[in-house]
Amino acid sequence: MMENYLPLAYLNAWEYCPRRFYLEYELGEMQDNEHIILGRHIHSNINEEKVVQEGNKTIYQQQWVWSERLGVSGIIDAVEAENGLLIPVEYKKGKMARHLNDHFQLCAAAICLEERTGYSIAFGEIFYHANRRRQRVEFTPQLREMTESAIHSAKITATGKIPRPIDNSKKCQACSLIGICLPYEVKHLTTLG
Ligand code: SF4
Repeated sequence: MMENYLPLAYLNAWEYCPRRFYLEYELGEMQDNEHIILGRHIHSNINEEKVVQEGNKTIYQQQWVWSERLGVSGIIDAVEAENGLLIPVEYKKGKMARHLNDHFQLCAAAICLEERTGYSIAFGEIFYHANRRRQRVEFTPQLREMTESAIHSAKITATGKIPRPIDNSKKCQACSLIGICLPYEVKHLTTLG
């Protein structure tokens, strides 16, 4: 049953670029670039499922969660439990910024965790490795709605035709799939056609 669930990590790709999501999810393409290699290195320090105690705080690392209602599943880097609160935490290689795709992934993970535990989760945190900052993300009704809408759209994208390249050369230059996607060539050919 769970094989049709959308992996949480792909939700991040979908928000970055629907074409990237399609390539990764549907075609299984995955090219290493320095961003992905660095990301793996960061996660290599926290990739074991284990429980760590820090004072009053219990940290559950690498927790598998899923939502039957939304049809998504994946691993949360850590869930911190303290004073009756559960806080999902994700580790990212980049700097703190307005990364909506990171927020969607964390919010979706929190919705899964709520479904699994029965707890209400008001916020989560993202640790940005590049500047060693933690950002609190409030799970507002608006973010929850946007996250659920992104999940819905990603599932529709997964069953359709490959989306066109996006018009964002900054994102394309940083994208590990640029050599497979060929965004400029595809756009040029479309213009000629
Ligand atoms: S190169 Fe650009 S259009 Fe192609 S998948 Fe990456 S971000 Fe999307």
